Amino acid sequence: MDLGIRGKKAIVCASSKGLGRGCAEALAAAGVDLVLNARTASTLEETAEAIRAAHGVEVKTVACDITTEEGRAEVLDVLPDPDILVNNAGGPPPGLWSDWDIADFEAALHANMLTPIMLMKHTLPKMIDKGWGRVVNITSQSVKAPIPVLGLSNSARAGLTGYVAGTARQVAEHGVNINNLLPGIHATDRAVALDGGVVEKEGITMEEAKRRREATIPARRYGTSEEFGAVCAFLCSQHAGFIVGQNILHDGGGVNATL
Ligand code: NAP
Repeated sequence: MDLGIRGKKAIVCASSKGLGRGCAEALAAAGVDLVLNARTASTLEETAEAIRAAHGVEVKTVACDITTEEGRAEVLDVLPDPDILVNNAGGPPPGLWSDWDIADFEAALHANMLTPIMLMKHTLPKMIDKGWGRVVNITSQSVKAPIPVLGLSNSARAGLTGYVAGTARQVAEHGVNINNLLPGIHATDRAVALDGGVVEKEGITMEEAKRRREATIPARRYGTSEEFGAVCAFLCSQHAGFIVGQNILHDGGGVNATL
């Protein structure tokens, strides 16, 4: 399917690896020029080079922490008026409700709520002027069904979800669509870290931790970044112009709910 976005320009945050990279690859395959971001310059540059070689699109890189004001300014300096914005950052650490103090919540709120909100605040006006724009926020299945050990994520992402619900409906008349894409478990470094936590807590092997988690997913496997990226690119496509303010699960059926 031609996504109809060849020649558009996108910022994809936190995209040297994992789900962000999956989104970047799928957008590049659709002919979108990219600004990629991550903190580690070496892996970021390797990813950018691989995408340039595979898809022939323009790929610029900004090595910075997207959860800081300075980092966001650096990215926006390189591309102040993206047609497409994919918001992403690392997820908060697991723990228990009794572990966290204000500083822990502040870090989670900055990474997973305020950073995407500030990037939208800066880029939506130009999308509105152009009469076209797409924003996809990578959130989590924890928005639909809380994950007890990820209370920081449950909290911060709920705040972003509320913001998007209202804002998406305020900008839709200008041809600007904001949606959230909610990963369940995917085979990325984040999944390895989460499984590592189970290994430590339960005293089992990584293979056993993964097997147990897979058993809770109707698809009986972890998702891939490629599958995730393809759905993201569709949400950024011309065909998704009537999808507004939705929270789309990509979880192999993991969230057990009728709606
Ligand atoms: P990942 O494989 O660990 O990749 C994270 C990417 O983000 C890397 O490129 C990393 O590069 C970059 N990054 C992390 N923090 C950053 C920051 N502050 N500024 C700029 N770049 C940053 O993670 P993932 O699995 O793709 O997860 C992406 C998001 O989806 C996370 O918020 C995660 O919590 C959420 N999620 C993932 C899953 C899953 O199963 N994978 C499930 C639900 C939700 P550097 O380290 O070099 O910065």
